[in-house]
Amino acid sequence: MLMSLQIPFSNAYATLPENFFRRETPTAIKSPVLQKFNNALAAELGFDVEGISDDELAEVFGGNRIPAGADPLAMAYSGHQFGNLNPTLGDGRAILLGDLIDSHGQRRDIQLKGAGTTAFSRMGDGRSPLGPAMREYILCEAMNALGVPSTRALALVSTGEKVVRDRLEPGAVFTRVAASHIRVGTFQFLALNGDAEGLKVLANHVLERHYPDIDTNADDCYVQLFRAICQRQAALIARWMNLGFIHGVMNTDNMTISGETIDYGPCAFMDTYHAAQVFSSIDRQGRYAYQNQPAIGQWNLARLAEPMLSLFDSDQKEAIAKASAVLKEYPDMYESAWRDGFNRKLGFSETAGTDQPPRQQLLDILERGEIDFTLFFRRLSHLPVTQNREPVLKLITVFQGDSVRNELNEWLDQWLAQLTEQAIEPDQATQLMKQNNPAVIPRNHRVAEAIKAAEGGDYSVFENLLKALKKPYEELAEFEDYQKPPQPEEAVIRTFCGT
Ligand code: AMP
Ligand code: MG
Repeated sequence: MLMSLQIPFSNAYATLPENFFRRETPTAIKSPVLQKFNNALAAELGFDVEGISDDELAEVFGGNRIPAGADPLAMAYSGHQFGNLNPTLGDGRAILLGDLIDSHGQRRDIQLKGAGTTAFSRMGDGRSPLGPAMREYILCEAMNALGVPSTRALALVSTGEKVVRDRLEPGAVFTRVAASHIRVGTFQFLALNGDAEGLKVLANHVLERHYPDIDTNADDCYVQLFRAICQRQAALIARWMNLGFIHGVMNTDNMTISGETIDYGPCAFMDTYHAAQVFSSIDRQGRYAYQNQPAIGQWNLARLAEPMLSLFDSDQKEAIAKASAVLKEYPDMYESAWRDGFNRKLGFSETAGTDQPPRQQLLDILERGEIDFTLFFRRLSHLPVTQNREPVLKLITVFQGDSVRNELNEWLDQWLAQLTEQAIEPDQATQLMKQNNPAVIPRNHRVAEAIKAAEGGDYSVFENLLKALKKPYEELAEFEDYQKPPQPEEAVIRTFCGT
């Protein structure tokens, strides 16, 4: 006998004040087919899908059947998009089914993305094409395997319907799991509505849910909260930078309060290192270029400070002084997280505080030599043990790369000398480096290839890619191809939001 799906919803967000959201139900789709389901994540969330048919999962995670205990709603939020304030955004194509306490005791959201229109859809259709849904599935699971805080992928359901974008595309519903979907824009929304009481309720919800270590009886608990949010964002962006990840749309509605990476729209990992790299087709000014991400993080956090001011102090001048003091700490928070991460990439323990060998010089060499960022650090990881420099030097791809080669050789001399000076054994360095320099990342051309095949009905390329990304810090023979950068004709240089 088939059992029926039991999800242990407890729905804390739905108990918050009514202006925080609108109750909405998903719009049914024509022919839901379950294309992918994340059993391990379901187990982590505390429910069992054994004995549940794929058809039932497709019905539930395609939005055709509301599971027992769900309390579906669309969250309200505002946001600065490319620097411009948009007061009325909100979930225009996403519906929160509900939240629950997972098997680790953490509250998590389960949200359907592409589930039809809501009160916040404006001119949009509330739908998602298959391509962006797959990209999000791949990227967020890869980020999680890489050890970067991220929203997660629970399910992918194809709809059997077409969505109209630049072309007609197959549609999909993507199920996203997040520590919460509360963002900078959620605070902005309440402040723009003059809802001081609501801001306090939201901040208290966030304290309890994401920052339980902060003593809520302390006078300055909201300043502490703001500092902790800044700290998590600084650490998160440092992780992105050290992996060559470019988010692509760091609008304030796409920055979580929990510190998870969210909204994998036109994001991408770079192949060749370029500090000014931009992939997103809509980021014409390069606002969200690779090198701008740390500073944009601070800009977004300043936008978060504004709605929180009334929580910091009843005297506005005092409140601004407190916010500014925390924001001033951000560059150091970021620098130290980035430096620690970079040191580990080079085989030094976190406490190696000096800038020897110089990190920026290495990045400049990578840029001028047009060197693949990920492959460089992975090959470098073997060097302390093998003492063979050729695999690394061979990555220089510029014509007449002799001067770059000499410079890189000199840099390697300094680096190896420094390891010796710090009495770091070669195999110790190599081991640490291999844990911090992935062999496999979701390269853009691989993501594109998986999407193209699936649009033609073949999901095996997607399946394989997901498998290859499960153990990114291992060099497994069966996934060797996934380590390789694209051939020039394979390179994907533009990514799209697909909204
Ligand atoms: P995003 O680009 O996913 O961060 O979305 C920015 C805003 O546009 C959010 O308020 C979304 O809900 C809304 N949005 C994006 N795509 C659609 C769509 N197809 N239909 C309705 N709203 C959308
Ligand atoms: Mg968004």
